[in-house]
Amino acid sequence: MQPKEDEKKDKMKQKKKHNEMKEMYYICHSHMLLNQHEARNEASRVRIRELRQSLPYSDRNEKRGNNGLRMQINRLNQLVQIDRIAFQYNSKIEYSLHPVVVVERQHNDARMNLAIIITAARLGANVANHVAVTELLKKPDENGKEKVCGARVKDQISGKEWVIHAKSVINATGPFTDSIRKMDDQKCPVICQPSAGVHIVLPAYYSPDNMGLLDPATSDGRVIFFLPWQKMTIAGTTDRPCEVTHHPSPTEDEIQFILNEVKNYLTPEITVRRGDVMSVWSGIRPLVLNPNKGSTEALARNHVLHVSDSNLVTIAGGKWTTYRVMAKEAVDAAVETCKLNPNSECQTDGLLLEGASGWTPNMYIRLVQDYGLESEVAQHLANTYGDRAFTVAKHASLTGKRWPIIGRRLHEEYPYIEAEVRYAVHEYACTAVDVIARRLRLSFLNVQATEEALPSIISIMAEELNWSKSKQKVRRNVVQ
Ligand SMILES: Cc1cc2nc3c(=O)[nH]c(=O)nc-3n(C[C@H](O)[C@H](O)[C@H](O)COP(=O)(O)OP(=O)(O)OC[C@H]3O[C@@H](n4cnc5c(N)ncnc54)[C@H](O)[C@@H]3O)c2cc1C
Repeated sequence: MQPKEDEKKDKMKQKKKHNEMKEMYYICHSHMLLNQHEARNEASRVRIRELRQSLPYSDRNEKRGNNGLRMQINRLNQLVQIDRIAFQYNSKIEYSLHPVVVVERQHNDARMNLAIIITAARLGANVANHVAVTELLKKPDENGKEKVCGARVKDQISGKEWVIHAKSVINATGPFTDSIRKMDDQKCPVICQPSAGVHIVLPAYYSPDNMGLLDPATSDGRVIFFLPWQKMTIAGTTDRPCEVTHHPSPTEDEIQFILNEVKNYLTPEITVRRGDVMSVWSGIRPLVLNPNKGSTEALARNHVLHVSDSNLVTIAGGKWTTYRVMAKEAVDAAVETCKLNPNSECQTDGLLLEGASGWTPNMYIRLVQDYGLESEVAQHLANTYGDRAFTVAKHASLTGKRWPIIGRRLHEEYPYIEAEVRYAVHEYACTAVDVIARRLRLSFLNVQATEEALPSIISIMAEELNWSKSKQKVRRNVVQ
């Protein structure tokens, strides 16, 4: 055969493989999206059926439910096999298209944060809310060297200031790490490289219940993810260098970028509109340089622990997934540096957080049976508060209906109930923002619904906290 013909044949072969690969890619994605977006053509549908039949596990008869993890593992096995087949195709063509499936867990980070604080309080910690460190106190040690011995603090709500004396001070302020380090030593190098992650919230129907998608190679190289969260869908991107602020907010360009990218993952007949965006927010990830290794080092992959000459212990960077290790290392460093005499070794291993001890996946059924809560509300309470859900239920008022007997919703579209606002006040909620963002998550999910629920939230808080009419107005204005 002539070389030119060979070349032509090769090209045709490659094109055929390419088309097969595209189909395979589509099949894999259909699987990843739990077949929500069915394969485009009959050939792909047949191929999916063949693949399913050839696999050792089958999800054909699986139901969504509490065996979620097993389902995920089964599905993972299936997808890994599909992935392998896809890879065989892929290895013969010049670019990579095959997907990888990762099993992850989700949590309600605000609730988790609060559960940690309440657990600490239960075990004897004194907790200060809405209180900022404004200055570090120092005094000379036996060798005449200045050591940190406490902090001047200011209540951000009342404006009151006072001093807290301490044998050791730990700086665990995330993106604000350097502001505290500078209080200790004006000349210390900046170690935090804050990086913003932007999220938009879309209606639930944009993603299946328990599987998402992450694309590490978008049109401009940023990572984009598309995940089910709190019965809605969050889509977002990560890692844009930013300024540190208490109220980071995304730009319209960032929102449009995410919307444009999202379109690539949906079948063509679905139009994602700006009006589908129910809420947007941005978070600051505290990426850090390791001060122990000099300022030219690259960003630390994990957390860093640093003890300054004046004994300020700084723990920075890290992830939710490593928070217990981070806490242990920081406290152990404080014990060693400041020669503290604890009664025991670190207790974190196996320590249950508030609400965990009586929780089971079916606990919500007792809330329905014993209290007369509707099932969706009971599931939300059990999943959020663990066994504390029974205490929340005790605060719930009668609906006046035959069913549900108790648990008046704050907004008809969401399972949050009025009793949660009363309960939140007992768990240190001081402002309406505390409730809508850090207790209920409503403002993260749907801004419009939050505005509609706000008058009821403020009036319940006013009852609990004896707010005057003028204070209620101020609180409302702050939110808006
Ligand atoms: C977009 C995004 C996505 C993420 N995804 C994941 C993930 O998938 N998995 C994971 O494990 N982790 C994830 N993380 C990381 C995780 O959320 C962070 O590690 C964590 O939020 C940092 O916790 P932190 O306690 O160090 O800081 P923060 O949560 O920021 O807390 C710092 C605290 O210090 C307080 N503070 C600041 N200055 C002062 C002062 N002067 N006095 C008193 N208090 C002060 C602040 O008010 C704040 O409450 C993500 C982070 C972001 C932003």
